[in-house]
Amino acid sequence: MAISFSLKARDGLARRGLLVTPHGEVETPAFMPVGTLGTVKGLLPSQVWQAGAGIVLGNTYHLHLRPGDDRVARLGGLHRFMNWPGAILTDSGGYQVFSLAETRSITDKGVVFRSHVDGRMIDLTPEKAIAIQENLGSDIAMVLDECPPAGCSPVDLERAVARTVAWAARCRNAGTRADQSQFAIVQGGLDIGMRRQCAADLVAMNFPGYALGGFSVGEKPEAMAEALPACAAALPENKPRYLMGVGRPEDILMAIAAGIDMFDCVLPTRNGRNAQAFTRQGELRLRNAAFRDDPAPLDSDCDCPACVGFSRAYLHHLFACREMLGPILLSAHNIRFYQRMVAGARDAIATGSFVAWSRDWLVGPTRSL
Ligand SMILES: [Zn+2]
Repeated sequence: MAISFSLKARDGLARRGLLVTPHGEVETPAFMPVGTLGTVKGLLPSQVWQAGAGIVLGNTYHLHLRPGDDRVARLGGLHRFMNWPGAILTDSGGYQVFSLAETRSITDKGVVFRSHVDGRMIDLTPEKAIAIQENLGSDIAMVLDECPPAGCSPVDLERAVARTVAWAARCRNAGTRADQSQFAIVQGGLDIGMRRQCAADLVAMNFPGYALGGFSVGEKPEAMAEALPACAAALPENKPRYLMGVGRPEDILMAIAAGIDMFDCVLPTRNGRNAQAFTRQGELRLRNAAFRDDPAPLDSDCDCPACVGFSRAYLHHLFACREMLGPILLSAHNIRFYQRMVAGARDAIATGSFVAWSRDWLVGPTRSL
């Protein structure tokens, strides 16, 4: 089966929906923890599941290099390999090629780059990006796109958009798995006209879902906030909308208000490994000596393993001694924090109170709604 998507409630531009995948149902707005190398760093799949996540993200670029997508396929596919019971979305590898790989050349055919692992040259074409993702067996595959850097020239932006549309068509033609659905990616930077044209060209190809790429790549958060409602409105009502790589809690709430359904970001786990915990009052830095004698839980609102049973003083101690339980507990907390946030958003949309709820939900210094 392929995916299906249905809207359950609307509140202004915000949407609550249900995404049905071959590996279970996912309520939207949804946050997808990032499992770059087939693991959400530091957490057991059961911990990610219990935090409320029904879908995680895997990285095509990384899994192609190690352990190799053909090996994953021989071992039963990515779900079985990483023992994840829920749905998986894989990216196309394009973003990592543009951000990680050293030597690369981009032509209309595809991208050639040097592996950051062993230095070999690798070809990534739209057809190969889909073949790799079919080997991985993800429920949702992303098309290969060209993500232009923020502030690039209009000529470069236009070329990247044209290439993105052409590559999307080649990905659509290359797909062979009935149990994998492809999402197209809209590029166009902060040029709303170009975004609309790109979206129209991709919508004409009738993809099962659409993503907005090229945000959170160095532009100001206010610029993204300004562009998102028009970008979301250029996408079909009845298909899921995914904002790639965003972001901070306040960015996600802003994007939900603009009509986005799906999110992914490395922040909860990356910051957790670095002793930073998300709370409604803002981020806590657990290495700070102020927590040395603090008997309070990390976040008294939270029901995660870190907040039930451990004190801030203990978490501070773990990081001070570089104990591995520290990054594990804070990653678990941060993943749960993001899941509680999108669950709260879903409830608020259902009762028509999203704007008031989101204004109240983040009360700390990080809010910028
Ligand atoms: Zn917690």
